[in-house]
Amino acid sequence: MATATTHQDRPPLVSVTPQGLYCQAGNFHIDPWRPVERALVTHAHGDHARSGSKRYLGARAGLGLLQRRLGADAVIDTLEYGETLKVGDTTVSFHPAGHVLGSAQIRVEHRGEVWIISGDYKRTPDPTCAPFEVVRCHTFITEATFGLPIFRWDDPRLVAQDILRWWDANREAGRSAVLFCYALGKAQRLLAELGKLTDRPAYVHGAVNGLVTAYREAGIAMLPTQLVSETEKGTSFAGALVLAPPSAAGSTWMRRFGEAETGFASGWMRVRGNRRRRGYDRGFVLSDHADWPDLLRTVADTQAEKVLVTHGYTDPLSHYLRERGVDASPLATPFEGEAED
Ligand SMILES: [Zn+2]
Ligand SMILES: [Zn+2]
Repeated sequence: MATATTHQDRPPLVSVTPQGLYCQAGNFHIDPWRPVERALVTHAHGDHARSGSKRYLGARAGLGLLQRRLGADAVIDTLEYGETLKVGDTTVSFHPAGHVLGSAQIRVEHRGEVWIISGDYKRTPDPTCAPFEVVRCHTFITEATFGLPIFRWDDPRLVAQDILRWWDANREAGRSAVLFCYALGKAQRLLAELGKLTDRPAYVHGAVNGLVTAYREAGIAMLPTQLVSETEKGTSFAGALVLAPPSAAGSTWMRRFGEAETGFASGWMRVRGNRRRRGYDRGFVLSDHADWPDLLRTVADTQAEKVLVTHGYTDPLSHYLRERGVDASPLATPFEGEAED
């Protein structure tokens, strides 16, 4: 009697090719870094959604952001979270990743074998996107942007209160408060958290503004905003809060704010010395990625037999998991690990 082959005997359902993560059974790529026939995309950040592919498939909640990112000509199909689609010999579905608006983990099923490709994810509450959903799988591809034990996040509501106190203090001193943050996701999350504490409008840089519009179109409640470049010449920004991407720091764009304090909202602010090295007056620890305890918790929650680690601290996380009996190994990809988060 022949013994049934188990999925462990089969070639990997998803593997790395020069174009990106590839699923042969479904003949599609996931977050490919080169143009392909069919790209399944986890979310709209630049290292995951790249233009040039023939067709895209993403979660419907992220459609507006994907259109902005991939251009008006891109052919983008969408699925609701949890909705399934047959692609080749596989069944695929998208499940909330809690990272940014529309972000998804991609579930791929083939002959009873299930893989989850997490993209980027977090477990802390975020009013701008659906919360992370635990999905059981045989193989879990996890990110490791903050895959070191030093990375632990505080309650984001406390961080928002801190930011409001900083804004208030600058306001009383007649200064503007320029808060640098990742333009896609972090800026809108900050505006949403602050919107629970105050209704004072905030100013935004042009790189932030279009994305704020996309979030508003998706029905996300945020502070009222005004585009800096649309203010009249000579407008005083004393007492104002301004949100801008890190690339604007130190640029001539900053001159209009006169006396200003600068801050940076990022998971990287957890590392002592990063704030000073980058020349910010204040650092606020707020990340759109899982911290160390949540990476470990998520790996356990999926009940995966095998874990592949990509993005960031792949070696420390896979080493730690292996020492605890988890079959984990790094998966080499060119994903950048989001230096701006
Ligand atoms: Zn991302
Ligand atoms: Zn990423």
